[in-house]
Amino acid sequence: MTRLTRWLGLSILFILIGTGAIAQNRPAPPKTPRIYVFENGSIKGLDPGLFNFKREEIKEPDFVVVSYLIVHPRGTLMFDSGVIPDASFKADGAPVAEGRMSASKPLKPQLAAAGYKPSDVTYFALSHFHSDHTANANDFAGATWIAQKAERDAMFAEKPEGIIQPSHFGALKSAKTRLLDNEDFDVFGDGTVVVKSAPGHTPGHQVLFVKLAKTGPVLLAGDLYHYPEERTTGRVPTFEFNAEQSRASRQKIEAFIKTTGAQLWIEHDIATHAKLPKAPAYVE
Ligand SMILES: [Zn+2]
Repeated sequence: MTRLTRWLGLSILFILIGTGAIAQNRPAPPKTPRIYVFENGSIKGLDPGLFNFKREEIKEPDFVVVSYLIVHPRGTLMFDSGVIPDASFKADGAPVAEGRMSASKPLKPQLAAAGYKPSDVTYFALSHFHSDHTANANDFAGATWIAQKAERDAMFAEKPEGIIQPSHFGALKSAKTRLLDNEDFDVFGDGTVVVKSAPGHTPGHQVLFVKLAKTGPVLLAGDLYHYPEERTTGRVPTFEFNAEQSRASRQKIEAFIKTTGAQLWIEHDIATHAKLPKAPAYVE
């Protein structure tokens, strides 16, 4: 090799690295879907009465707060975004507490440890608009937002009602949006990642079905339930947008679970998530 050809080769290599054609820190797409679980803190000291239970009827009254990144061969979907915005963390990274809510680590470094930035995320979906799910929603406004029309309308109402923090998600208003009208959406077109309408807790609450090759099918339940005891007693929280609708959604999703054999992951359930690996490890 002459000095000139070696120099040319190196120059081209550096140009490729510079444009990002070679230097990609994003992992190669997996052959089958994966779920990364992010730890976004906890909610403690809740009154089980809010959920129509006496303290002694509930095994574990506290909540865990998590969010999920689903990585599919054809793209990625972020589902929910935590309770404490990353911006609330100080430079020293100390845990943040806001009333009953607290978090010990921000979301984006966990996402980065898995190999992703918010700008790598293809789709973003919220189970619902309550503030313990929306904390970092603005970071994902560059993705295509998958939302039920009723939920979006409530989020951008003139006077939003309920447990809502509009500053968390204002940027979604101008995001590219796949608007659903009380319907399901097969995100990547192969039936392995499906957003399912499950209204009642809020006007456009939704859950997520993910078909994993090793683990089998999983249903990310959002707040269809909060406590596992809701599933066995049929009780619904006191603050549902529409309790009748919640019961109908539960019935529909339970039937779906029976048909598919899916595991149900209640998003706030400590026991469910204690058993799951956390990012950068994943479930596949
Ligand atoms: Zn919640």
